[in-house]
Amino acid sequence: MIIAETIAQVREVIAGVRASGKTIGCVPTMGGLHEGHLSLLRRCRAECDFAVVTIFVNPTQFGPGEDLESYPRTFEADRAACEEIGVDLIFAPSVKEMYGEENLSWVNVEKISSHLCGASRPHFFRGVCTVVAKLFNIVTPDIAYFGQKDAQQLAVIRRMAADLNFFVEIRSCPTVREADGLALSSRNQYLDADQRRQAVCLSRALERARQLVASGETNPGAVIAAMKEIIARESQGRIDYISIVDNELLQPVARIDRPVLIALAVHLGTARLIDNITAAPAKK
Ligand code: AMP
Repeated sequence: MIIAETIAQVREVIAGVRASGKTIGCVPTMGGLHEGHLSLLRRCRAECDFAVVTIFVNPTQFGPGEDLESYPRTFEADRAACEEIGVDLIFAPSVKEMYGEENLSWVNVEKISSHLCGASRPHFFRGVCTVVAKLFNIVTPDIAYFGQKDAQQLAVIRRMAADLNFFVEIRSCPTVREADGLALSSRNQYLDADQRRQAVCLSRALERARQLVASGETNPGAVIAAMKEIIARESQGRIDYISIVDNELLQPVARIDRPVLIALAVHLGTARLIDNITAAPAKK
C-alpha cells in the first residue's frame, strides 16, 4: 500500500495505473475511520482494480467555533484498517498541499445546498464541493463512493459531478448503524455514556416517521410533530432541523405523495448528530 502526501506523487502513481488500463475507485474521508467508512472501502476494493482512500480533515468545511481542532485524527489506526482491506493508495495531504498559500476558487452548488445542513452551516457545502472537486481532479477516479448517512452531501456531489461534467460515477452506500440503530459517525466519540444512550432517539424518530408514512400519513407536519415528541421524551437533545424533502433537490414537500427523504440534525452535548432515511407512501 502506497501512502502519498503530495499531489505530484499521486499523479505519478495514477498515470501508471491508467497506462495499465485499470479502473480506479476513490473513497474521500476525513479519517477517524469506523465501520461506516470501512463499508465504503470494502465496496471500492471489490468493485475497482485500484482502490484509493483520501484522508484529509478539510478546514474549509468547518465554520468558526466548530470542531476542526478536536475532530478525531487517528492516522495509524486508519492506515492499519486500509492495509487490512487491501487499499492500494492512501492520499493524506497537508492543508498547505491542498490549498497552497491562499485558495481563491470555490465550487458552489446552489439550491440543494441551501436547506437542511446548509441552513445552519452555510460554509459547509462550499468546502465539501471544493475539496471533492480537487480530489476528483487529482485522483481521477472512475467511481467514487459516498455514504447515504450524509444524504445531502451525496445529492450535492451528484449534482456537482453532473453539472461540471466530472468523468466519474458516484455510488451511494447504505448507512451503517450500531445494534441499537445509532448511525456510526466520527462525532459519536464526543458523546458521554448518558448522551450515547439518548442518541438512539434520532434513529427511533426516523423509524417512527417511516412507519407513519408507510401507514398512510401524508401530512409532513404531523410526521415531524411525532418525531419531535420522541426526541423530547427520550433525550435532552436540541433539534437543529427535522425536514421532509424531495429526493432530488431536497426541497420541503407540502404533501407526502411520493418517496421522500426524512432528515434531521440534533445537538447532544457538544456533538451535532445527523441522520436520515428514505420513506415511501403506502401504495393505494
Ligand atoms: P467523513 O469522513 O465523515 O467525511 O465520511 C466519509 C464518507 O463516509 C462519507 O461519504 C460519509 O457519508 C461516509 N460515512 C460516514 N458515516 C457512515 C455510516 N455510518 N455509514 C455509511 N457511510 C458513512
